[in-house]
Amino acid sequence: MTLLEVNDLAVEFTTAEGIVQAVKGIDFAVARGQTLGIVGESGSGKSVTSLAVMGLHRGAKVTGSVRFEGTELIGAPDETVRRLRGRRMAMVFQDALTALHPYFTIGDQIAEAHREHHGSSRKESWARAVEVLGDVGIPEPARRAGEYPHQFSGGMRQRAMIALALSCEPDLIIADEPTTALDVTVQAQVLDLLMRLKDERGLGIIVITHDLGVIARVADEVLVMYGGAAVEQAGAERLFTAPRHPYTRGLLESLPRLDAADGEPLHAIPGNPPSLLAPPAGCVFHPRCPVYAAADTGQRELCTAARPPLRLLADGHRNACVRSEETT
Ligand code: SF4
Repeated sequence: MTLLEVNDLAVEFTTAEGIVQAVKGIDFAVARGQTLGIVGESGSGKSVTSLAVMGLHRGAKVTGSVRFEGTELIGAPDETVRRLRGRRMAMVFQDALTALHPYFTIGDQIAEAHREHHGSSRKESWARAVEVLGDVGIPEPARRAGEYPHQFSGGMRQRAMIALALSCEPDLIIADEPTTALDVTVQAQVLDLLMRLKDERGLGIIVITHDLGVIARVADEVLVMYGGAAVEQAGAERLFTAPRHPYTRGLLESLPRLDAADGEPLHAIPGNPPSLLAPPAGCVFHPRCPVYAAADTGQRELCTAARPPLRLLADGHRNACVRSEETT
């Protein structure tokens, strides 16, 4: 059953330098028990997309449609969005030390969220805080609930963030770079925890990351973003085994390989992500694209004439490269 449906979502910021088109025409859906991975470099628009879904973009112009179980959130009264946010849709932020309040105990912060959304008593909400801390694997949860964020390790703080998100029993969790600050062992534990909770509770999960290793571990469906737009979308297995867009291929080739020969240099995508104030004409990736670089003048015009839309291909892939058939 579809939990979240996003159609033609666009987010614009007005700045002193001009209009920044941070997200342009994004479509995706998330069902119960499904994990959508959104991947891209910094500035690709992935975090802006998640904040727009949560209604956390004050001051930005947000257009398109975000429907949560059929309820339209774009343009909805603040009260409607507030009722869903935290209670039905929760967010796990990337830097738990910044996201958690340093003056309040972990238990107080979880209990407060539960009281706010469920109208529970102090005693009930504290019991719920201890329960969810136990659910996410915090040892001695009754004692640790009384500790402050600085007394938790990085991995435990991230678990506490997940407990905070879970405390109101949401249906959808958006995890923005949930493991970026963690070492690989703790990273694996946190991802396994999210997947266990998804399976046990039938949650829909959106994982936002720049790390394809995280995507490979958790995602059923993958959306690749570049320059504020989706450039490729496919099932995770298909995307990893048969990527179609040159940007996705560049990301995959940039992963360090254990079987690389000694001294073999790491591959990198040349250049930098585009400025969204003045993006390149046509395909925004063209200044960095190896296919464009190798093409003759006539073929290059295909890439720069207009921004390629995300097209559905025969194999179920969606791809925004005008030359994807030739370059496969
Ligand atoms: Fe490269 Fe052209 Fe495809 Fe863009 S449309 S990814 S520039 S080949």
